[in-house]
Amino acid sequence: MAKVENVVIIGSGPAAWTAALYAARADLSPLVLEGEPEGIMLPGGQLMITTEVENYPGFPEGVTGPELMQKMKEQASRFGTRSKMEMVERVDLERRPFTVVTRDGEEHKAHSVIVSTGANAKWLGLPNEERLAQSGGGVSACAVCDAALPIFRDQVLAVVGGGDSAMEEALYASKFASKVYVIHRRDELRASRVMAQRVLEHPKIEVLWNKVVDEILGYDQITGLRLKDTETGETSELEVGGLFVAIGHTPNTGFLDGQLDLTEHGYIKTKSWRTATDIDGVFAAGDVMDDFYRQAVTAAGTGCMAALEAERWLSHQGIGESPVLETAEAPGVES
Ligand code: NAP
Repeated sequence: MAKVENVVIIGSGPAAWTAALYAARADLSPLVLEGEPEGIMLPGGQLMITTEVENYPGFPEGVTGPELMQKMKEQASRFGTRSKMEMVERVDLERRPFTVVTRDGEEHKAHSVIVSTGANAKWLGLPNEERLAQSGGGVSACAVCDAALPIFRDQVLAVVGGGDSAMEEALYASKFASKVYVIHRRDELRASRVMAQRVLEHPKIEVLWNKVVDEILGYDQITGLRLKDTETGETSELEVGGLFVAIGHTPNTGFLDGQLDLTEHGYIKTKSWRTATDIDGVFAAGDVMDDFYRQAVTAAGTGCMAALEAERWLSHQGIGESPVLETAEAPGVES
């Protein structure tokens, strides 16, 4: 029979590398399947399209997203993590050992699996969007991550979307911006009443109704937007120094083919204050199970939790030893 890995970690963002670091230091010799470049997304997740990260603890001068990912990978590798740049196409979680199959047909058997495949921000699909998002030219899909950066401060900013994410982004961005426009394609917000009300009553925020972004203007740096009225078809220009796209996220769970329980929004369900899923031996960490915080540091935190839980679970199966979490209970744990 083929070798059975102790733990296969799927993904390569902060959750995956932190899980790998902990699993490797526990002598579990984890295998990380990192994924392959696809369109705007690179292995490494959302941080690969983030220029400056100022809110990851331990980097007082800030760090770029790709550099942070590289450092996390190096740190995990130092303790014996093995990694392959392969995209997981399907899994069999119904039989143990679990099977993880990559796009080129390679099969990996595993006693435990940590799913940390993240969630991709949805983009508008405009030509300038990808380039300016990657180059730090004032386009982003996360105001909480980026709005405090110098390029967005004291600027007129725009947020696209009408859901709770867009409201949250607009409210957050308004702390730093001189003015925030919310651009919504209909005449009614999708957001919850309380969030919508906060935006509508905010002195610095103005909602532009029935408008879509037709084009992002500017070469090195965004200078404005061309808007199109969804009712009249008329176009207009709006001068802005930054754009936050907040039209939702897509958790990367397609390859699971319905084998794990998901929330109504498609995120992997885990037990309260745990990363255990509804299948014993399968854990989830990072944005693929968290549509609430979506931060690099919280993803890393859940990656640590997943590795500790996997380590404990494996020791119960007679694989390795887990000196931790034998009796510990966290607050709010469901049985
Ligand atoms: P969402 O509820 O799906 O809203 C997406 C918004 O983007 C909608 O207003 C949609 O317009 C718009 N949109 C989608 N595609 C677009 C496009 N191509 N061009 C222009 N506009 C587009 O997503 P979300 O806001 O990320 O929220 C997801 C879930 O998380 C929701 O259940 C939400 O309540 C929850 N959430 C909660 C909080 C909170 O409570 N603090 C914060 C964030 C998210 P239409 O309205 O016309 O469809």
